[in-house]
Amino acid sequence: MLIIQKAGVEMYAKSLKCTSCHKEYPLSPLYECQECGGILNVTFDYNGMIAEELKKEKKVSNKADLLPVKSECLVNIGQGNTPLVEAEKLAQRIAIKKLLLKYEFCNPTGSFKDRPVGVGISKAVEFGYKKVVVASSGNGAAAVAAFAAKAGLEALIFVPESTPPEKTKQAAFYGAKVIKVEGPYSNSFKMAKEISNSTGVFNLTTTFINPYTVEGDKIVAYELFEQMNGAVPDVIYVPIGAGPLLSGIFKGYEELKSFGVIDKLPRMVGVQAEGCSPIAKAYLAGKQEVESEDNPSTIAGGICDGLTGYAKDGTYVLETIKRSNGFAISCDDDSIREAQSWLATDEGAFVEPSSAAAVAAIVKSLHEKSIDKDAKVVALLTGHGLKDMGNVKLSIDIPTAPNDLGKLLEIIG
Ligand SMILES: *Cc1c(COP(=O)(O)O)cnc(C)c1O
Ligand SMILES: [Zn+2]
Repeated sequence: MLIIQKAGVEMYAKSLKCTSCHKEYPLSPLYECQECGGILNVTFDYNGMIAEELKKEKKVSNKADLLPVKSECLVNIGQGNTPLVEAEKLAQRIAIKKLLLKYEFCNPTGSFKDRPVGVGISKAVEFGYKKVVVASSGNGAAAVAAFAAKAGLEALIFVPESTPPEKTKQAAFYGAKVIKVEGPYSNSFKMAKEISNSTGVFNLTTTFINPYTVEGDKIVAYELFEQMNGAVPDVIYVPIGAGPLLSGIFKGYEELKSFGVIDKLPRMVGVQAEGCSPIAKAYLAGKQEVESEDNPSTIAGGICDGLTGYAKDGTYVLETIKRSNGFAISCDDDSIREAQSWLATDEGAFVEPSSAAAVAAIVKSLHEKSIDKDAKVVALLTGHGLKDMGNVKLSIDIPTAPNDLGKLLEIIG
């Protein structure tokens, strides 16, 4: 057992374990199983400690204990602890009893990516790296750039050409080196992997390549446990690209169940856009294996990942979805736009299209009767609306005030 003693505090993370062949490795900078190329997952031995605290306090007072990072290496820009808001008007509009929205866009860089990247950067510090690389559709870029700035690391960032300027500018403003790559996201993914392999910089790409980052996503489950006073949602809607956010949340719930503080698990719903839905297509076709989509296209840039070259990530997420008794679903861009508008006008929540897809998916699954209208539903609002203003369509032009008061009153109506 590899529990590390330091200043009276234990680190509960134990090993990296292959999700395919189950070979175990020490906690090192590895990106895949050396035997079979499988996805690596951090294993923990909480030693009874967390369960004890959860049962007594109904919460984990120091959530850093749940992460595979030495506490003195943790980098904090204020990530996590996002609000859980009940959406009464929107619930009424779409005819569902209870809808809770997890405001992940309230994270410091405007998306949930601060969670996985926060752990990844902390691990870079712990391993002694001076430089990190990431392939991102934009939000991971901003997160890596912000954390790298805080930690004093150099950041190299590859984004698809089509990335909204708000995201590339944000990342560059934190001081990172941002490079645009032609073609779909998978091309950026490949480039970051090559740079990492050839120059030895730490790869923080938030797919399943870096086994530590998904542990940051796991914390969402612990926050929901607390925010819902120990109740477990019936269904959780998560917009997915490669899907680590969904896997991470489910891992958190599986841990909570293993501690004996919950007795059921939520059904996980993986939400994709029709123009990029490799996982949803495999699910609907009843296939076990996900196939990549080489020319994806949707307004939901944050979840536009065709998985070219790493379709096995999709297969892994599909397995998680099925294990949770959930499902995968895809929505068209028009329904995503409509949901984006409802979130703003009903709830005062301004989110980017990738986040709105979660709400569009709830409407579609109510219609298809895949969930019950009495279900207790949580949707993850993953990214802020200000991140992608080019996709915001106003139905009217914003007028300029005329000098004449009469005319002004006419405009005001
Ligand atoms: C990255 C991202 C997602 C998808 O998360 P994965 O963990 O990569 O599946 C969803 N929404 C937004 C806004 C994102 O930036
Ligand atoms: Zn293996």
